[in-house]
Amino acid sequence: MPLLGSIQVASVVYLSLGSNIGERKKSLEEAIKELKTKLGILAISSVYQSKPIGLEDQPDFYNLVIKARTDLNPHQLLDYIQHIEVNLGRKREARWGPRTIDIDILLYNNQVISSDRLVIPHPRMIERLFVLKPLLEVEPELELPDRKEVKNYLEKIKNQKVEKITEIATPRRGSQ
Ligand code: ADP
Ligand code: MG
Repeated sequence: MPLLGSIQVASVVYLSLGSNIGERKKSLEEAIKELKTKLGILAISSVYQSKPIGLEDQPDFYNLVIKARTDLNPHQLLDYIQHIEVNLGRKREARWGPRTIDIDILLYNNQVISSDRLVIPHPRMIERLFVLKPLLEVEPELELPDRKEVKNYLEKIKNQKVEKITEIATPRRGSQ
């Protein structure tokens, strides 16, 4: 937790959530419910439907992005989201294969992190329209730690199939 004198300042994080097994919207909602117990949710994007990348013979994904405040440090946050993935029944058999819920940390303040378990900014986020569309919905002017604007990465990936399908019944930006 960052310390300024004796004042504890929460960090701002962006998470990407995806599901492509079973009741996909319900899995997203359950993950959000769990995340709310430890994080201060600042914004939740609409739900987007996307074609799988990598392993293509599997159901479409439902994706969304969350902006939240947290007192957890980056590795504690990773432990926490992996605990949620396991609790919601994630099978870890195939990389890029079907999953009940996948939660990735996209950004943590403007920190750059590269450990065995954790790379932030998420290395593939700028190549994935199913990440950038919901991310820019919650934060249109977002910049990466290197000050590059996220929206500038859209052009290269605009042909990927990603459609907004629905809003989720949770707090919008600014409300908590
Ligand atoms: P992917 O999300 O790339 O489809 P997985 O969810 O199976 O794949 O993640 C594989 C590993 O990626 C995790 O065990 C985790 O340690 C690591 N990882 C590295 N950086 C991140 C990050 N920013 N967010 C989430 N997981 C990460
Ligand atoms: Mg993941």
